Amino acid sequence: MSINVTRSSMPSYEEYCEEIKSLWDSHWLTNMGVKHQQLEADLKKYLNTPNITLYVNGHLALENILEAYGWEKGSEVITTPFTFASTTHSIVRSGYVPVFCDVNPVDYTIDVTKIEEMITDKTVAIMPVHVYGNLCDVEAIQAIADKHNLKVIYDAAHAFGASYKGVSSANFGDASMFSFHATKVYNTIEGGALCYQDASLSKTLDIWKNFGISGQEEISFVGGNAKMNEFQAAMGICNLRHLDDEITKRRAVVEHYIERLDDVEGITVCKEQKDVTSNYAYFPVVFDGYKYNRDEVFEMLAKESIVARKYFYPLTNSFDCYKGREGFDPDATPVAQHIAARVLTLPLYADLSLEDVDRICDIILK
Ligand SMILES: *Cc1c(COP(=O)(O)O)cnc(C)c1O
Repeated sequence: MSINVTRSSMPSYEEYCEEIKSLWDSHWLTNMGVKHQQLEADLKKYLNTPNITLYVNGHLALENILEAYGWEKGSEVITTPFTFASTTHSIVRSGYVPVFCDVNPVDYTIDVTKIEEMITDKTVAIMPVHVYGNLCDVEAIQAIADKHNLKVIYDAAHAFGASYKGVSSANFGDASMFSFHATKVYNTIEGGALCYQDASLSKTLDIWKNFGISGQEEISFVGGNAKMNEFQAAMGICNLRHLDDEITKRRAVVEHYIERLDDVEGITVCKEQKDVTSNYAYFPVVFDGYKYNRDEVFEMLAKESIVARKYFYPLTNSFDCYKGREGFDPDATPVAQHIAARVLTLPLYADLSLEDVDRICDIILK
C-alpha cells in the first residue's frame, strides 16, 4: 500500500455536515459570518492570544501584515532561505528586500548569532521561520529587535499548537502567521491567521482583507481579498475539537521514528528542544555520511510507493525566479545549503501506524 508524506486531518462526515447545516438556513456563505466569528473566538482561546484575524490562506496573511506596516519600498527584512516559497515571496511581493541570514545546524531555525551583522539603516523587521515544529530562539530574537527597534513577524506556519515555556507560539514577536493549509497539523482546508500584540492593527487587517472597504460608501485603501469563507471556518471548528488528540498520535509516530533512527551513523534526527512543546508537524532526517545519500533514500522509498519530501529544497535564495538578483546567493548561507542538500522529511500524520513506521525505517536501514 502506498504511503503519502502527509494525510489531511478530517472530522467525521457526519460531524462536518452537522456543522454546516445552519448555512442552508442563513444562506450566508462568506464575509465574516457566524462560523468565521466562532472560529476566531475558538482559536483565540486555544492559542491564548489577544488578537487574531483569519484569512483565506496563510500566504495572504503574511502579505497583509507586511503591507499593513507600510514601510518604504526597498526596506530590508532579515529572514532565512530555509523555508517555503511563501516567506520570501511575501517580502518581495510587498516591495521589500529579503536579506538572507543563515540557519543554525541544530534545529534549522535562524542563527541568532548572525542576525546583528545583517542589520543596516534600511532594516525594518526580522521574519524568522519556525521550522518543522521547532521554535526559533524567541528570546534572543526579541532582544535584538528591541535593541535595534525592529519588528518581528514570525512565519509560524509549522508551529500551530507548539509552545515555549508554556506560552503558545502565537504570542512571540509583534505578529505570527499560521497556515491552515490541508497539509498542516491543523487545517481549515485552506486558511490562515495572524496573531498579534497591537490591537489597533485589527481594523486595518479586517478592512484590507475585504478590498479596503471600511464603510458602505467608503473605501479607505487599496486592499485585497483574503477572507476566510464559512465552509473553511466550519472545517476549522470541527478539526480544532480533535487537535490535541491528533498531536498526541503524531508524537507517538515521531517517538517511534526516533527510536529506530537515532544513533545510526550518518543519520541525524531532530531532538526535542529545551522548554519547547512541539506539535510534531514534520519529521526531518538529515543523511550526512550515511551509506545512502538523501536522493538515494528518496528513490528507495519511492520504489515501495512511499512518498518522502525534500523539504526545504531548493533554498528560496536559489529559486529560478530570483536568478541574478542581488543578495540571492545560496553560497552565502552555507549551513542552510548543507542541510537542504541532505534533508528528507518522512511520512508523518496522526493515523500513520507504527507498523508503517517500521516498514519505512526497514527500507532506510536495509
Ligand atoms: C504552508 C506554508 C506557508 C503558506 O501557507 P498557505 O496557507 O499555504 O498559504 C508559509 N510558510 C511556510 C513555512 C509554510 O509551510
